[in-house]
Amino acid sequence: MNQNYLEGKVAVVSGAGRGGGIGAAIARELARLGARVVVSDLCAAPSDLPHGGNAAWEELEGVAAEVDGLPVKADVTRAEDWRRLMDATIDRFGRLDILVNNAGAIIGPAPVQHMAEAAWRRLLEINATGVFLGCQAAIPHLIAGGGGHIVNISSLAAIRPRPFMSAYAAGKAAVVALTGSLAQELGEAGINVNAILPGDIDTGMKQWGMQLESMVLQKPYENVVGELVARIPRGRLGVPADVAQLVGFLVSPAAEFITGQAINLTGGRELS
Ligand code: NAD
Repeated sequence: MNQNYLEGKVAVVSGAGRGGGIGAAIARELARLGARVVVSDLCAAPSDLPHGGNAAWEELEGVAAEVDGLPVKADVTRAEDWRRLMDATIDRFGRLDILVNNAGAIIGPAPVQHMAEAAWRRLLEINATGVFLGCQAAIPHLIAGGGGHIVNISSLAAIRPRPFMSAYAAGKAAVVALTGSLAQELGEAGINVNAILPGDIDTGMKQWGMQLESMVLQKPYENVVGELVARIPRGRLGVPADVAQLVGFLVSPAAEFITGQAINLTGGRELS
């Protein structure tokens, strides 16, 4: 397969503002494969995400510079932001071929009985409605370009929900269901829609979760990491590049017949 198979293609990646995050790795991989890339993030201050998940505008600009791409500030929960993001993409690059819905957030953990309603609503809004709005905004442009790809970053939590993480798990499960419906709606238009369910990927979000666990359970951080790794058959945490390479494959000609799938990327974690 030609190594620059994305030459002439244009991709939008949401939640790509953090240099060490999954979105930035996806942007780098798509650029490496030849695509022009628009990177987007919330860039809001102050953050309403307790793990400090919001990338600053300067960090997003840095990722954009790395991939010679276009940075656009956009909140995935706002339809008007998605329209602005799509307009900026078409203005700069003239078309859209790939949408990667990667933006996501985690708040909590909390038992359902005591969870603030606002926290539940906010997580569903970011992790599920944000993906729905992204798809809605992208579809006319993908159709106009004669087809393309949507890749939604869900989570293993969608199919292996853990206690105290209900809102996150429910939002990510909604993404899997949305992916299946949409793949059927868009198949005839030549648009493949797939979801990736990453397990434990070593990013700011995962480190925040492990730090919290270390604090709550009063265990050294290294022990929390060690015990987690021991439950992963491949014997390591995932890295953002693992997810990025799967995205690169899903948008390749070799994956032309793969649509409507929810693909685990976990090092085998769900089996143990
Ligand atoms: P991250 O916190 O580095 O990245 C998430 C990005 O989403 C951040 O840059 C954040 O600013 C952005 N974001 C949050 N709310 C937004 C909004 N309203 N509008 C626009 N952008 C917004 O974490 P990550 O680990 O790189 O996560 C990337 C994706 O992968 C997320 O959807 C996450 O749920 C998913 N995921 C991560 C893991 C893991 O172990 N790290 C596992 C499974 C799934």
